[in-house]
Amino acid sequence: MTNIPAAAGSAAKLKPLRPGMFNLPAQADMPVRLLGNRCRACGEPFFPKRHYCAACTSGDLEDTGFSETGKIDTFTVVRQQPPGGAIAPPYAIVRVKLDDGPTVQTIATNCDPEKLKIGDRVQLIAHRVMDDEAGATVVSFMAQPVKQG
Ligand SMILES: [Zn+2]
Repeated sequence: MTNIPAAAGSAAKLKPLRPGMFNLPAQADMPVRLLGNRCRACGEPFFPKRHYCAACTSGDLEDTGFSETGKIDTFTVVRQQPPGGAIAPPYAIVRVKLDDGPTVQTIATNCDPEKLKIGDRVQLIAHRVMDDEAGATVVSFMAQPVKQG
């Protein structure tokens, strides 16, 4: 594996909302693979990582990255701004079943939340949440609908 440094000056420095949640892409709005682990005994996947398997209690887990794509398992549309909320409604909170991994919850981005449907294909991308005091762009993973051909 080779890490390619970002071009100096051209792109803002990216920083994950929580360290180790995914590998940082070269720039925002690019696909990300979530980093979790999988039970060697029964195969159950976990994100975030666990020390013991929640399915069979084994402590034998291996680190892995999961598919960047999956489908919407269920969702809800937020229409009122929660206190201190950083995102302007309406937006959708989606539960995504990754193709080869666990089910994760996040926010749908780059889409009309009123047009989402259960079963829609999505891709996880690193989306800007805010800029920190050092000028880095803080990103989290969000779900972007996959355009159907
Ligand atoms: Zn297990």
